Amino acid sequence: MLRLMCVTAHPDDEAGGFGGTLRLYHDRGVETTVICVTPGQAASHRGGAKDDHELAAIRRREFAASCAVLGVSRNLVLDYADGKLHRIDLNGVVAELTRLVRDLRPHVMLTFGPEGAVTGHTDHSMVSVFASLAFHWAGRSNRYPDQLNDGLQVWRPQKLYYTATTFTLPGRQPVSPAPPTAVIDIGAYLDTKIAAFRAHASQAPLFSLFEQNIRGRGTQEMFHLAASSKLGMMTPETDLFSGVTDEG
Ligand SMILES: [Zn+2]
Repeated sequence: MLRLMCVTAHPDDEAGGFGGTLRLYHDRGVETTVICVTPGQAASHRGGAKDDHELAAIRRREFAASCAVLGVSRNLVLDYADGKLHRIDLNGVVAELTRLVRDLRPHVMLTFGPEGAVTGHTDHSMVSVFASLAFHWAGRSNRYPDQLNDGLQVWRPQKLYYTATTFTLPGRQPVSPAPPTAVIDIGAYLDTKIAAFRAHASQAPLFSLFEQNIRGRGTQEMFHLAASSKLGMMTPETDLFSGVTDEG
C-alpha cells in the first residue's frame, strides 16, 4: 500500500493547503496521515473558548472532523506552541517527526515551503524546515540512532513536496514561493475541501473569505518537488506518486 504523510502547522491548514489532494489520494487507495504540529491555540478567532487550553481542545476536535471529511487514515496533533515554532528547540521536534516517519513509513511527504505559503506565517516556514529534515534524516542510520534501538528501522521516503502557488495575497509581507512542478486536478474535491474547512467552526469568521479565495483559484492544487530519492532532472507532474514504488 502506498502511503502519504502531510505535515502542517495549524488545524485548518490540512483543508486549505492540501485538502483536495488528501481526499483524492485517499480515494485512490493511498493511506494518508496528517500531522499538525500545533493545536492552534494562538488563533485570532477564539470560538468562545475561555483560554488557550480550551481553544486547543476545540481545535483538536475540529481537526479530527476535518480529517474525517478528507478521508484521512490517521490524524495527529502534536503539542507545540502555536505562533512560537521559530523559538522552540529544533532538535526535539525534528526527532519526534523523524520517529513518526520511521514508524509510519510514508512514500511521499507534503508540507509547506520555507517561504511560509501565501500567508508567510513563521509557523508554516518552521514546519517546512522540521518536516524537510525529518524527510532527509529518517533514512540515515547516524541520525537519532537511539530510535533504532527501539525496533524502528531507517525509512527513506521517495519524494518531498512543498505547497506551491501562482498567486500571492495583497497587503501581506512578500513571499517568494518555489515554482509549481506538480499540478493536481482536484475536480469535484473542491467542494470536499471547502466542507473540510467548514469543520473548523471556531474559525467561522474566515469561511466566506476562504471559500471566495478557493473557488477563485479553481480546481487545481500545486506542489513543488523539493527532494527525490531518484536522481535526475525535474519533469512536470500531474501525479505525486508518479515513479514511486510500493516498497517496504
Ligand atoms: Zn496555518
